Amino acid sequence: MLSYGKQSISEEDISAVTDALRSPLITQGPLVEAFEESVSNYVGAKHAIAVNSATSALYVAYRSLGVDENSLVWTVTNTFVATSNAALLCGATVDFVDIDPETWNISVENLREKLIQGQAIGALPNVVVVVHFAGFPCEMESIWKLSQEFGFLVVEDASHALGAEYKGQKIGGCKFSHAAVFSFHPVKMITTGEGGIITTNSDALAEKAISLRSHGVTRKNENFIQDNEGDWYFEQQDLGHNFRITDFQCALGISQMNRLDSFVEERNQLANQYTEKLADLDIQLPKTSSESKSSWHLFVVRLEPDKARRNLLIAQLRELGIGASMHYIPVPHHPYYRKMGFSLEDYPESQKYFESAITIPLFVGMSSREIDFVFDSLREVLA
Ligand SMILES: *Cc1c(COP(=O)(O)O)cnc(C)c1O
Repeated sequence: MLSYGKQSISEEDISAVTDALRSPLITQGPLVEAFEESVSNYVGAKHAIAVNSATSALYVAYRSLGVDENSLVWTVTNTFVATSNAALLCGATVDFVDIDPETWNISVENLREKLIQGQAIGALPNVVVVVHFAGFPCEMESIWKLSQEFGFLVVEDASHALGAEYKGQKIGGCKFSHAAVFSFHPVKMITTGEGGIITTNSDALAEKAISLRSHGVTRKNENFIQDNEGDWYFEQQDLGHNFRITDFQCALGISQMNRLDSFVEERNQLANQYTEKLADLDIQLPKTSSESKSSWHLFVVRLEPDKARRNLLIAQLRELGIGASMHYIPVPHHPYYRKMGFSLEDYPESQKYFESAITIPLFVGMSSREIDFVFDSLREVLA
């Protein structure tokens, strides 16, 4: 089965990991900081804090921004459940904003309307989390303006968007946000097996995140509340988890970072091949923008909304050996969220999207023959 996405591991990646395994520290060693530096330098952020998944990174970012039981966190319907789950795990109340029918990202229009309504009833969000779906940057400048007007914090769930650019700057530089989060799951832009990272320009947020990643402990003399008893002394001042990433994962991460630009270029070239071929078919293609560069984490196409037909097409593609899929089941549609009172009917564009979207394979190392095979198969099942 041709999977919708997968990792690319080179011999260099493998030897970087084996070297790390032969070094004295396989966790809490120097490669964690080296990886963090390679990501923060790449995206142009002051800090990067690596953890064991993007889910942990979202949770840590939210808590570092003060999200708790009294907080309201809004995000977009079209995302993986982790984006909103992490806010629920902080004790927050969550709500969703519908998507734009063309970009499939958060609709800035809907966000503005919902903020005006929220203001009228005294229920404005503390944090709005945007998601650069499939690697296509959201309209960050407009979202940032709204954050100034309505007084909320902005987090970018950039799990799909390492290497993507918005207005000439890399996603993760946090020019229009307080923090960004990336995922290193094998299907994402680069991998550490499991892993995630928070980027930010805030010293306070970075310090809090470092503490929360490791039990809420601090080892910095200048931060101690009680007497410093010696080199071995540390203080727990907050309640945290063990969200640490290992040095051998970071070795893989550093090696993959060296390949990131070629990954982005290759995905862009593969996407161009698809776009040229698919132009003649009766389907909606991803909307590109002159303001931004996509990292092309996913290639999604849309048909007319018709769930039965869409499901049949995915099943037929799978029978032909193409691991077509659907990203994402809108979060409010999941039973856990429906029990909380959410209903997809309140998000008409997401409902239509849910009935019409198909993800087709796109990954580094995909051959032109495989692109042709997917295209021919899609044309055949559509006919
Ligand atoms: C993959 C993903 C996550 C979760 O990432 P993990 O590293 O698997 O925890 C969160 N948000 C989005 C949008 C994702 O695609």
